[in-house]
Amino acid sequence: MKIIRKIKELKTHLTKLSKQGKTIGFVPTMGYLHEGHLSLIKMARKENDIVIASIFVNPKQFGPSEDYKKYPRDMERDSKLAESVGADYIFTPTKNEIYKEDHKTYVEVEEIDSIMCGASRSGHFKGVCTIVLKLFNIINPTRAYFGKKDYQQLVIIKKMAEDLNIDIDIIGGDIIREEDNLALSSRNKYLSKRERENATVLYKSLKLAEDLIRDGKAVEKVKKEAQNFLLKNKYVKKFDYFDIRELYTLKEIKEKYPKNILIAAAIWIGNTRLIDNFIINR
Ligand code: AMP
Repeated sequence: MKIIRKIKELKTHLTKLSKQGKTIGFVPTMGYLHEGHLSLIKMARKENDIVIASIFVNPKQFGPSEDYKKYPRDMERDSKLAESVGADYIFTPTKNEIYKEDHKTYVEVEEIDSIMCGASRSGHFKGVCTIVLKLFNIINPTRAYFGKKDYQQLVIIKKMAEDLNIDIDIIGGDIIREEDNLALSSRNKYLSKRERENATVLYKSLKLAEDLIRDGKAVEKVKKEAQNFLLKNKYVKKFDYFDIRELYTLKEIKEKYPKNILIAAAIWIGNTRLIDNFIINR
């Protein structure tokens, strides 16, 4: 496995590979890899000739009061893990390699970028779309892999690809969880022992909502019960949202449940923001 830091060097490799007609699977990450990331690399490994994972903590998707500086980084560990599941290249550029000082161009996917996580993280998805499109343009992969853990991000990237005629297959990978069902996240590292034990409240609230929906309870009632359940736990400092939406459009469900439903939530356990979701097909 090769670790590449410069765009020019990566392009030299890629030009050779595309002349040989190789398919390229791309997995963008911010590093501090866990089984969630590795599951995407494994998927890419199965479906492509060449696998590239990027590791780049993208400053433009963090708000001014967010955790850009303290976001966990461990390149040595990451490269071992990526190699163990068959990555061929890691692309890990510096901030200056990616963003020149006079960077002025951004990509926005309107409306769906300002609901859910976008409502409390203003500008987050603009930063995500901009880096993803830049990486797509640098790498020009055949397929790109994103986790359903960040389900809204997956919908937004698919929409960006559709709207901007990006000819890359965008593929979603299932959420990988710990044994007690907490979704894996690089941010779980921030949790204290007690917080970690209580973090399962998020999964449990989604499960509760799923059961209530299957019982035919009205949307507003389901949300209220799930929120009450969350806020009863003293480790839940606040919640950003608990939403029930149509799976593909992310439109809010007002009354009648459609066939495919997304239940998604973002909560704060102490100073750590956690997200998770359930997909229900009825
Ligand atoms: P991140 O490094 O957090 O930007 O995540 C990189 C990719 O891994 C994104 O597409 C995430 O959705 C995906 N990912 C993160 N956690 C998980 C998980 N627990 N299960 C599946 N995919 C995940």
